[in-house]
Order: sequence, then structure tokens, then C-alpha cells
Amino acid sequence: MAETKEPAGPPVTLTEPIEMSKLDVKFREEIHSMPNGEELSACFACSTCTAACPIANIWKYKPHQLIRMILLGMRDEVLSSDEIWLCLTCFQCQERCPQKVRVTDIFFDCKNLAAEEGKIPANIIGLAKELLEKGQLYTVTADWEREDMGLEPEVPGLSVDALKNILKETRTNKIVDSGE
Ligand code: SF4
Ligand code: SF4
Repeated sequence: MAETKEPAGPPVTLTEPIEMSKLDVKFREEIHSMPNGEELSACFACSTCTAACPIANIWKYKPHQLIRMILLGMRDEVLSSDEIWLCLTCFQCQERCPQKVRVTDIFFDCKNLAAEEGKIPANIIGLAKELLEKGQLYTVTADWEREDMGLEPEVPGLSVDALKNILKETRTNKIVDSGE
């Protein structure tokens, strides 16, 4: 008989007692004082954001849990979480929050704070590098369908110099450098 796999339970950080000494009491205020954090404290943990999120079912920490973790001061867990980087920025959560908590934008703030601390996943650094070097995230390649469509076999070169210059003047450089 085939073994049935138990569904993964909630992360241990949410089931074990929280060590108060490990909480950063200033984290809540830090996010709250940012332009997107004004309504943070209004969250009443209804989970509507999670219900609206198209990918929350594969996340270890669900959107409403991340918001709760921010309120509790679980700075390390939030800023080291994969979820803030996996967010699709579709704004479904934010649109539906009955308390007007800017969930998506708060995750942006978390990403910025994580980046300041060098906590950036390698794949994000790879994408930033592509953007910096080529001015685009995905290289446009020639495709056999071009012929069928009566187009030249090679994709004409795109002018990305201006974009590359802008990126060099921003902190995209810093992100790439931090991963090297
Ligand atoms: S939908 Fe809004 S109020 Fe409800 S849990 Fe999410 S952030 Fe909190
Ligand atoms: S913005 Fe991010 S957290 Fe919100 S619903 Fe979309 S994927 Fe989920």
C-alpha cells in the first residue's frame, strides 16, 4: 500500500512558544513609521489576505502570519524569510484587506530592509546582475516561429543603454556587489 505523506504542518516558529527575549520590539514601529505601514496595527488577523493570495498554499509563512510576525517583533524570521521575495506583487491581499493594511507594500519595505542587511536570495542577485549587464531580465532570443510570421530570423538588438545607466546610478549596483 502506497504511503500517504502527511501534509507539512505550520512552521515551528509559529507552533513553539515564542522567546520574548528574541523579539525586536522596535520592528513593529520601524515598519509602522514607513509610508506603507500606517495601518499595520489595524490588522485583526482575519486571514483575508491569505485567502486572496494565489500562492499562499505553498508558503511556509502565510501573508497574515507574516503581518502578525511583524507586529510581534519577529524581525529575523521575517527578513530572512523566502516569502517576502516569492511575493508576486499581485496586490490581491492588499486590495481585499478590510482594514486597509498595505500588505504588499509592507512586504516591499521588508525586502528593502532585508537588502540593506545583505539578506538577498542568490536568484534575486542573479536577476539584478542580468538587469545591470544587459538592461533586461530575460534575453530575447530568435525563435523558429519568427520565420512563420515573416520576420527576420534574428531579433533586432534592443537599445538598453539608458536603462543600464539608470541602474548604475541606483542601488542595483549595491545588490549585485553584495552577492559577489
Ligand atoms: S486581511 Fe488585513 S486585517 Fe486581515 S489578516 Fe490580512 S492584513 Fe490583517
Ligand atoms: S501581493 Fe504577494 S502576498 Fe499579496 S496576494 Fe499577491 S502574491 Fe500573495
